[in-house]
Formats: sequence, C-alpha cells, structure tokens
Amino acid sequence: MNKFSFTQARSIPEAITEVSARDEACFVAGGTNLIDLMKYFIAKPETLVDINNVGEKEAVVQNGDGVRLSGFATNADTAYHPLIEERYPLLSRAILAGASPQIRNMATNGGNLLQRTRCYYFYDVNTPCNKRAPGSGCSAIGGYNRIMAILGTSDQCIAVFPSDMCVALAALEATVQVSGPSGDRSIAFADFHRLPGDTPEIDNNLQHGEIITALDLPAQGFAKNHSYLKLRDRNSYAFALVSVATGLELDGDSIRTARIALGGVAHKPWRVPEAEAFLEGKSTTRENFNAAATILLEGAVPYKYNSFKIELARRAIVRNCLMALDPASQLPGAQPSE
Ligand SMILES: Cc1cc2nc3c(=O)[nH]c(=O)nc-3n(C[C@H](O)[C@H](O)[C@H](O)COP(=O)(O)OP(=O)(O)OC[C@H]3O[C@@H](n4cnc5c(N)ncnc54)[C@H](O)[C@@H]3O)c2cc1C
Ligand code: SF4
Repeated sequence: MNKFSFTQARSIPEAITEVSARDEACFVAGGTNLIDLMKYFIAKPETLVDINNVGEKEAVVQNGDGVRLSGFATNADTAYHPLIEERYPLLSRAILAGASPQIRNMATNGGNLLQRTRCYYFYDVNTPCNKRAPGSGCSAIGGYNRIMAILGTSDQCIAVFPSDMCVALAALEATVQVSGPSGDRSIAFADFHRLPGDTPEIDNNLQHGEIITALDLPAQGFAKNHSYLKLRDRNSYAFALVSVATGLELDGDSIRTARIALGGVAHKPWRVPEAEAFLEGKSTTRENFNAAATILLEGAVPYKYNSFKIELARRAIVRNCLMALDPASQLPGAQPSE
C-alpha cells in the first residue's frame, strides 16, 4: 500500500489550490475508478483531495435554452433527473447502459469523463504498457487485442476509452466547463479527449489542477428521435465492444440534422462530421444509414483478434439509426444495466 494523505476541500478554489500545489496530488470524487487504480499500483497519488463537498450539488439546472449538468453530481441523479429524461433521453439511456446501479450512485459526471481505459495490459503492472509506463511498449498490439480500438490508433497505443455517458455527450455536442489555477475555460466536447499519438499516457486536454465544474448541453436534445445501442459480451455490467449514440431531427421522412457517435472503437468518442453531413437532406432508409456507416468507419484498421468490430460497428450504426426513428421500439441492447 502506498502512503497518501487525504483532505476534504470545502470549496472549488480550495480544491484547485490543494491539487495544483503538488504534482502528485489529485481530486477524488466517487472513487469508483481512482481507488481501483490505486489498489493496482497504477495511480500513486501522495495527496487525495476529496471534492464531494464542493460545487453545485443540484444535478441538472436550466441554462438558457439548454441545461447545465453539475460536474459533481452522480451519474444516477443525472440520468433520472426529469429534465434529462424529458429533453435528453439519449443521455439518460447512455448513462443507464453503464456499470451497475450501485456504481452509478457513486460515480460522478466529472469522474466519468476522466475514467481510464480498461485495456487488460494497462491494469497488469507486469506487462509493458506505454500508457502506464511511457516508452515501455504496447503489449496489446501483438497480444490479445479483442477489445481494442479500430480507429484513430497509433503504433504506441490501441486502447479504447470505455465511457458510455461520453458517447452521448459527444453526439449532443456538450461543452465542458473547467476551473483551474489560471481561471475558468470552456472546452468543446470534441476537443476534450485525445487520440493516443506519441503520448498515449495523456488521455485528455485537462491540465493538472483543473477541475470539471459543469457540462453544458445545447437546446437540441433529439428527444423525439434518438437511440443508444451498447453491444457487449454480457447484457449487463460489461463495457461496450461497440456502442452507438444517434440523434436525428426529421422533417417528415427527410433528415434535417444527424448526429452519430461511436464508443468502444477509439481512444475517444468517435464522430465523423462528413457522415452526418451526408445524411442531411436524405431520406431515412437503411441504404443511406449504411452509406453513412461506411464514411464513419473509413480508415478502420483491425488487429489480430478484433477484426469483427468493423462489421459489428457497421451493423450497430445502421440498426441504431433505424431504432432512432421509433425510440419506443428500442431493443434489449439499449436497456439499462441491472
Ligand atoms: C465495475 C465497474 C464497471 C463499470 N462499467 C462502466 C460502464 O459500463 N460504462 C461506463 O461508462 N463506465 C463504467 N464504469 C466507470 C464509472 O462510470 C467511472 O468509474 C466513474 O464514472 C468515475 O467517476 P468517479 O466520480 O467515481 O471518479 P473517481 O474514481 O473519483 O475519479 C476518476 C478520475 O477523475 C478525476 N476527477 C473526478 N472528478 C473530477 C472533477 N470534477 N474534476 C476533475 N477531475 C476529477 C479524479 O482525479 C480521477 O483521476 C465502471 C466502473 C466500475 C468500477
Ligand atoms: S493499448 Fe495502450 S493501454 Fe493497452 S497496453 Fe498498449 S499502450 Fe497500454
């Protein structure tokens, strides 16, 4: 067990000061990922700063035409909030497809964005892993890579980002609100997470000492036509092999706006604006959704054990877009985890 000190911050500025003062300090919220990482000796913070008593506790508030999610609220309080169920059911479904009720009661929105990959080698400190130990190599590229990425990989890392919530946040074009030692800033969701490139140890563009205070959702929530589909080895309590968040705005049988984000296939939620632009003005046919899937999956590179993911993703995209036409008909893969 590594020794660490523990302090409870009483305000956001106090939390920022405590963490930014030390390189080896970090925030702890629900602890559902960080404490596991500490038990596996992957995270070795010298100081933990508890942020459960700082910031806005109301999970969701009206924010102009849209809503603001607290960075400190739990996933459960967010998913079951009436404003989210009514106006952003895509987000509610994505959150409820993740983890278990117990974990969602502890896990926070800020922590969900910052959870780390579930690559087996990342968690096994006896194997090389560039994300855990930069420069040591990637065990997954020539190893058992069934759950790994097919898009946006590098020769340094082929891990996927495991969140469900973030796939919906990508499709909804959320904005991440951050406070830090240099003040406040807003980060477009598409710019928050990173591809591995030559620095796979860096998952996102948050700086040390910066805290996620809120997530803003714009007015368009795709409440009428949306779907979240999560395909996994078990129908409950498992991370996605492939997931798809779709939001459609329709004008009769014609698509006015389309959003499609993929999970389980890359180091960040995967969106391709050209695929969405292709669908705009087109009719809601299987053929058009299949053509959009081809654009979304352009450049996909399979590894020895995960080539199945390319066809799985294609079929998931088409099926999920068709399900978005009639959200009431959604199939078992979209149901909450028990
Ligand atoms: C068994 C299991 C199954 C799971 N299944 C799924 C799943 O299917 N789908 C899914 O999406 N997720 C799943 N999860 C992951 C879970 O959703 C995350 O662990 C959780 O969202 C993290 O939130 P937390 O508050 O517990 O974060 P913590 O563990 O407290 O922190 C995680 C990281 O975020 C940082 N942090 C936390 N809050 C903030 C903030 N406001 N600002 C800045 N930094 C912050 C911490 O410093 C730490 O680095 C699963 C987890 C477990 C344990
Ligand atoms: S895929 Fe990434 S996280 Fe997994 S072993 Fe390779 S470098 Fe590590």
